[in-house]
Amino acid sequence: MTQLLDGNLLAKEIKNKICKIIEKKILKKHKRIPHLGIILTGNNSSSITYVNNKIKECENIGIKSSLIHLPINTSEKELLEKIKGMNQNPHIDGFIVQLPLEKHLNQDKIILSINPKKDVDGFHPENFGKMALDMKAFFPATALGILTLLEKYKIQISGKYTVIIGRSRIVGRPISILMSRKNNPGNSTVTLTHSKTPNIEFYTKQADIIIVAVGIPGFLKGKMIKKGSIVIDVGIHSHEKKILGDVDFYSVYGKASYLTPVPGGVGPMTRVMLIKNTLIAALNNR
Ligand code: NAP
Repeated sequence: MTQLLDGNLLAKEIKNKICKIIEKKILKKHKRIPHLGIILTGNNSSSITYVNNKIKECENIGIKSSLIHLPINTSEKELLEKIKGMNQNPHIDGFIVQLPLEKHLNQDKIILSINPKKDVDGFHPENFGKMALDMKAFFPATALGILTLLEKYKIQISGKYTVIIGRSRIVGRPISILMSRKNNPGNSTVTLTHSKTPNIEFYTKQADIIIVAVGIPGFLKGKMIKKGSIVIDVGIHSHEKKILGDVDFYSVYGKASYLTPVPGGVGPMTRVMLIKNTLIAALNNR
């Protein structure tokens, strides 16, 4: 039997805890609610949806959010000016620049310009490097959300064999670092696969845990996994008014021991982890 890992339920629990912390620790003492800044460039419909969801999440929890939506032809100089404004604004506790950026904008330069203390996405090399060195830092929200979900369901990762499909900076690579770190949670033996990995099935068939962040709907099929494995589906795809993941749900369901549904698995965990990072930034900032 496959048990679904309910990201909606856990995200709700975490939101309730965050609300209490805001009420007891922040509002009573500091009289100012945490504030997340968001910079969005262009008209990418997925990015607009993600940003709207983040703003809605802030409203639900009682965190302030400010959006700067810049036109598609915004120059790098103009974007860097907006980031400077967020860095210097004492009322902004943390902020994100929604990715991906338009092709004419240098993503590395943009990420490097964010003050690491306000980098609640955890993409700045200072935070990413600290994460890789087992130091305290802002961790990318999706990776943090996956770890939290595994922990909640008491799924042991130490000593297990984890295969990750996809090595993006925002999902695959950070989760590979966190799963394999010499820390708790961590201590998993990790194989990070990507588009140049021949015969991915060879790895997935041996894996105890499979994390799929490949960006191809239904990529992981039931025949690619061993019975009883734990499957985490990061993918999000809109298809004929339905949301699909990177896992072929119906062939994996029944064979895996645990599986994250899409929607309702990793997505809500990612959103709430961004809020958690903003709360930490707010506490650090007071
Ligand atoms: P991405 O930046 O496009 O990276 C995709 C990765 O998959 C790359 O490393 C790529 O390899 C690899 N890949 C592509 N085709 C492959 C193949 N045939 N076999 C093996 N590996 C292959 O994607 P991403 O940003 O990580 O996002 C992945 C998915 O997760 C998307 O559906 C996205 O919408 C979703 N997502 C969900 C959340 C959430 O909160 N649930 C958060 C972020 C992203 P190369 O490196 O060799 O190109």
